[in-house]
Amino acid sequence: MKVKKLKGTCDFYGETIKEYRYIEKISREVAEKFGFTEIQTPVFELTDVFLRSVGESSDIVNKEMYTFLDRSENSLTLRPEGTAGVSRAYVENKMYANPGLTKLYYFEPMFRCERPQLGRYRQFTQFGVEALGAKSPYLDADVITLGAQILKKLGLTKFKAVINTLGSKESREVYQTNLKEYFTKNIDAMCDDCKERLNKNPLRILDCKVDRDSEVMKNAPTIEQFLSDEDKAYFDKVIEIVKSQDINYSVDSKLVRGLDYYSHTVFEFVYDDPNSKLDGLTLFGGGRYSGLSSAFSGPETDAIGLAIGVERIMLALRELNVFNFSDKLCDVVCINIGESTKVHAISIANYLRSHDISVDLDYVSNNLKPQFKLADRTLAENLIIIGEDEVNNNTFKVKNTITKEEQILNIEQLSSYFNIEGEKYAYKK
Ligand code: AMP
Repeated sequence: MKVKKLKGTCDFYGETIKEYRYIEKISREVAEKFGFTEIQTPVFELTDVFLRSVGESSDIVNKEMYTFLDRSENSLTLRPEGTAGVSRAYVENKMYANPGLTKLYYFEPMFRCERPQLGRYRQFTQFGVEALGAKSPYLDADVITLGAQILKKLGLTKFKAVINTLGSKESREVYQTNLKEYFTKNIDAMCDDCKERLNKNPLRILDCKVDRDSEVMKNAPTIEQFLSDEDKAYFDKVIEIVKSQDINYSVDSKLVRGLDYYSHTVFEFVYDDPNSKLDGLTLFGGGRYSGLSSAFSGPETDAIGLAIGVERIMLALRELNVFNFSDKLCDVVCINIGESTKVHAISIANYLRSHDISVDLDYVSNNLKPQFKLADRTLAENLIIIGEDEVNNNTFKVKNTITKEEQILNIEQLSSYFNIEGEKYAYKK
């Protein structure tokens, strides 16, 4: 049977897995510099975890979740995003009882049944952070800065930040009522999805990709008109700090983000190059929320998070030619002359490997030609060639493939050639 991977999924190997791990490494390092520690939550949860948090009016819950019944008829869902599971874990493990902020990061696969296209997959990885337990414009700006630092550290230069506030729950409710009145009058000119959103969550109409540039959308009331003085002062402070951190940003009052749980600060970072097919692609997004812990019967908790799309970052870094990995597969290749010295070659390979030197050898052939071909392919800097003479004299022929220099070394000399200290190798027959 010929089988192919599922639509919207990726295999990572060779160069692509190096790219993936590079992004993982830098993201973890930056998050840890900001005081975040790792959390891993299960790949699947009770469907309720997402219904209660991501929100029933979101596209994720409505159209994109991989939901199934297990053998006991429980409804389970493959994690479509990270915040819900982290909030569930925060409450379940009573992390709120710890003093101070809880700062967590994750690097995990997510699953959404979306129409696959450039930068949109059905399994993708998010690097996310969540800071739970405080509300402060300094924290909001710090999380935004963390995202910007990850992009900069990765070498991703072409991006811009779009920031908005959704205000407090009270301001937002008044705004939503106004928005609903406005869109009700104009709904005939809007797409079917917007018609549906009108009843469920009119705010989400602002997120519509279809009607984005329409006159109705352009003239819609904006949140600014409904913010309380306190909301405004909070947001102004966030902006003041972001500005001071040298981040290229703009404020867009139409930015609402696709999930229902946000309040106050929301933001997205998008790829910014009008000449590129990636222009406008959202690299990451996030925002402040407060109702998730209580949705899981925990205390009302102020929190803020962001989630970076790892595969999208890969696309952007490729576009910018940032990746430059070495093709070298190992440091040394051990070559045996004839079958009789093969075990000796394996033993010296394992001695070097146990001292952190990467070594490969040809498992199949004793002929020199394929063994040298392997050496060429791996770009190993040194070859260790072992024939009968070497075994009899307890020596090793070492060839440097760059200088072409050859030397016959005893075990002490070989060890110092590779800077190995401590116990020396002794071949046991
Ligand atoms: P969201 O959880 O929808 O706010 O998404 C956060 C980030 O995850 C986005 O900015 C994208 O970079 C990435 N992302 C979301 N959905 C997908 C997808 N289907 N495929 C690839 N990346 C995605």
